[in-house]
Amino acid sequence: MEQPLQLDALIFGGGITGLWLLDALHRSGHRAILLEAGNLGEGQTIWSQGIIHGGLKYALKGRPSRASRMIRDMPMRWRRCLAGESTPDLSSSTMRGEYCCLWSLPGFRSRIGLLGARFGLRVRPRPMPQSERPTPLRNWGGPVSRIDEQVLEPHSVLAMLADQHRPRCLQIDTRSGLEFLHDAPGDVTTVRLLNPETSAPLDLAPRRVIFAAGGGNAQLRRDCGLSEHAMQLRPLHMVMARGGLPRLNGHCIRGTAPWLTITSTLDCADRIVWQIGGQLAEDCVDMSGEETIARARRDLKQAMPDLDLSATDFSTYRADRAEASNAARRPDGPVSIAEGNTLTLWPTKLALVPMLSDRVMERMTEPAGFDFDDELLQDWPRPTVALPPWERDVAWTDVHSASPAST
Ligand SMILES: Cc1cc2nc3c(=O)[nH]c(=O)nc-3n(C[C@H](O)[C@H](O)[C@H](O)COP(=O)(O)OP(=O)(O)OC[C@H]3O[C@@H](n4cnc5c(N)ncnc54)[C@H](O)[C@@H]3O)c2cc1C
Repeated sequence: MEQPLQLDALIFGGGITGLWLLDALHRSGHRAILLEAGNLGEGQTIWSQGIIHGGLKYALKGRPSRASRMIRDMPMRWRRCLAGESTPDLSSSTMRGEYCCLWSLPGFRSRIGLLGARFGLRVRPRPMPQSERPTPLRNWGGPVSRIDEQVLEPHSVLAMLADQHRPRCLQIDTRSGLEFLHDAPGDVTTVRLLNPETSAPLDLAPRRVIFAAGGGNAQLRRDCGLSEHAMQLRPLHMVMARGGLPRLNGHCIRGTAPWLTITSTLDCADRIVWQIGGQLAEDCVDMSGEETIARARRDLKQAMPDLDLSATDFSTYRADRAEASNAARRPDGPVSIAEGNTLTLWPTKLALVPMLSDRVMERMTEPAGFDFDDELLQDWPRPTVALPPWERDVAWTDVHSASPAST
């Protein structure tokens, strides 16, 4: 066995957290490698709606909350990266939209919510003239606002970062090709890998081990003697719709919560696909796909009476939000737990990843000046970006005619 490869940092997990951090570490001269067990972004990032929240949805009760204060600077931070004015340079990534629409079902509390949401936020709702509204909202009786929360295409952001850091991203097989050697719980001395294609061994000796594996963090923590109970999973049952739909990104508010959160993307056949989340996805966790689709159709008709769904097919997918344990409630912000030389990370929201990355960078010591030849890892397989749910082999059902539609 060769001498272990010395590293400043070893990252587990190539979702948005791991890739963003890899970029930051690399730029600051740290020797870092990222290990990915499956496909990049699988679990959350690739399933996400890509909204760079500015805190509005956490302030709908009419006053700014701790969560809304934590996230309010994130839209500006991302905007600079997406414009190529800050690092990482994400200027060539694809956007789903530059803003979200906001409208509420008639009702006193909803209107108060929209007004109250203005307090303390950096991005605020502004009235949207009728001529600028998306078609299904053009004749909506109540006010429609625009909020400058950008919506990004998670696949393209992951692909950009992975491309730039390809030499430093390695595919691993966690079942038979990964072993931790640790002195005390969380004090990792060596990470022992086997090349998934050739079975050649590789030992890594990282000064810092970073768990950025979303729902995979629990197992990684167990593997090096740490408690797996630091993590909670909160499930969602998301709806997808395609066919005859216009582009629309936005939230329909009911009461003081986003009832339907809709984002639009294009599939590989250039069809507009809607991802539909919000309260719907929380309420339908225990429902079947058919029940969830029936509920989604009803809710969509109520939120947009002018929307024509006669040519629309539906499907659903389930996804767990992996977060730091917080009595089954969403933590207010990103969480990092330091134990031994490990750091376990959960951003809580994609939008909060820059803040989490800054916190990690503050904890890093100066680069040790380790040097090794990237060619050493040349034969190692590289991970690819996960497919979004609408490109997978899922059944699309046209509930209207109760017949299966083509994939
Ligand atoms: C349906 C849904 C919609 C969402 N919408 C939004 C939104 O609009 N805006 C927003 O801000 N947030 C949103 N979120 C939250 C956001 O997606 C997550 O907070 C964020 O993507 C988490 O990123 P991550 O990189 O930490 O984890 P993940 O994206 O889960 O990435 C983890 C990575 O680790 C890999 N991995 C797993 N186990 C191991 C292992 N043992 N070793 C190595 N690698 C491993 C996985 O394959 C994956 O690549 C949404 C979440 C969901 C589920």
